Amino acid sequence: MDFTIPEEHKQIQALMRRFVRNELMPLETQVEEKGEFPPEIRRPLIKRATELGLRNLSVPEKFGGGGLGLLGQAVVEEEVGWTSPGVSWGVVQGWGWSPPASFCRVATPEQMEKYFYPVLRGEAEECGGFTEPNAGSDAANIQTTAVKRGDSYVINGTKHFITNADRSSFAVITALTDPVKRARGGITHFIVEFGTPGFSLGAYQPMMGRRGTRNYELVLQDCVVPEKNILGDMGGGARRTFAHFAQGRLLLGALFCGTAERALEMAKSYAKRRATFGQPLASRQAVQWMLVDMAVDIHATRMMTHEAAWEGDQGQDIRVKAAMVKLYSAQMVCRAVDNAIQVHGGIGYSRLLPLERMYRDARLFRIGDGTDEIMKMVIARDLLQTE
Ligand SMILES: Cc1cc2nc3c(=O)[nH]c(=O)nc-3n(C[C@H](O)[C@H](O)[C@H](O)COP(=O)(O)OP(=O)(O)OC[C@H]3O[C@@H](n4cnc5c(N)ncnc54)[C@H](O)[C@@H]3O)c2cc1C
Repeated sequence: MDFTIPEEHKQIQALMRRFVRNELMPLETQVEEKGEFPPEIRRPLIKRATELGLRNLSVPEKFGGGGLGLLGQAVVEEEVGWTSPGVSWGVVQGWGWSPPASFCRVATPEQMEKYFYPVLRGEAEECGGFTEPNAGSDAANIQTTAVKRGDSYVINGTKHFITNADRSSFAVITALTDPVKRARGGITHFIVEFGTPGFSLGAYQPMMGRRGTRNYELVLQDCVVPEKNILGDMGGGARRTFAHFAQGRLLLGALFCGTAERALEMAKSYAKRRATFGQPLASRQAVQWMLVDMAVDIHATRMMTHEAAWEGDQGQDIRVKAAMVKLYSAQMVCRAVDNAIQVHGGIGYSRLLPLERMYRDARLFRIGDGTDEIMKMVIARDLLQTE
């Protein structure tokens, strides 16, 4: 096993660090307070990040992407974790990079021209509509149907909690094309353009954290989508979504390391500055142990992430290890931010520091892209060799 980071990856890592710390972190407070990331500020940043080569890192070079392997992406993604997900979302990061490389690999040349190249160039945005009111963890239980009529499909259903729907020009959604087969060949990906009759934004669904991004329902009512908007093979939607999840979950481990590192740096610095009973907090064993727990946790997470990334780069099946990384890292970052707040005392709980924002944002990490319990199901199935 060789986790040596090649020089070119170190250069992108350094570039990402500067971009995140100089251009994104200063915007966090404004975005948090307003609950939105105004397009006049966001769009130029997306353009700049694209020009610097900080987006589309997972996308193959033949599509103009960075073509980085998983280990390279993990190293860079850790830098992204330093800033708030409300600011980084869509600018440099999209929960495993947007649009997923797996979509570009199966898109037709026409779909690339019309939909994905504009997203890769930073000129348009997209969203992924998979979750439904009755199908979150149980993704195969979707109710949305796509029924063939001539050379089109008529789609009916409702998606919910869809991030970025209000900024997107199209959505990639899942629909049942064979209600009997379901996850085993009956779920298909469709590209649906906003503006298509019968396709609309539903209710706004406000969230606890990740302010700066918004979540909406997507409503499809007798929405007619041409057959050429099927993405990938008919019935291959569930397989592709699960494959994409494995890589996305792994990279979240790196993202969460970055957030936890920031919490640790803040806690270390405060513990050295703050004195109680005549001594700095950093001299107290109780405080030292909280810092030590955080440092060990971060190191363990980074090692797990890099090992699984390396294995993925060698072509090994990393679905179970990615679930382990997602489970461990999401809980790790919640513990780390909680400890950092404890070290800071009252000021940690206040809105004068970013820690309370980090605490709310981190809580999502144990839910999005597969909950803790679903990760445990994946790992248990492998341990017990059950279906
Ligand atoms: C901020 C935010 C952004 C999101 N963005 C998107 C998006 O862009 N696109 C999209 O498609 N979706 C999105 N989602 C949806 C997200 O993926 C789901 O919320 C998540 O997968 C969990 O599904 P659920 O909410 O239906 O919970 P449920 O599946 O109903 O689960 C509820 C609870 O039960 C547990 N549980 C479920 N099944 C089992 C079981 N068999 N055994 C034990 N425990 C179980 C779960 O772990 C959880 O604790 C987003 C969600 C949030 C909160």
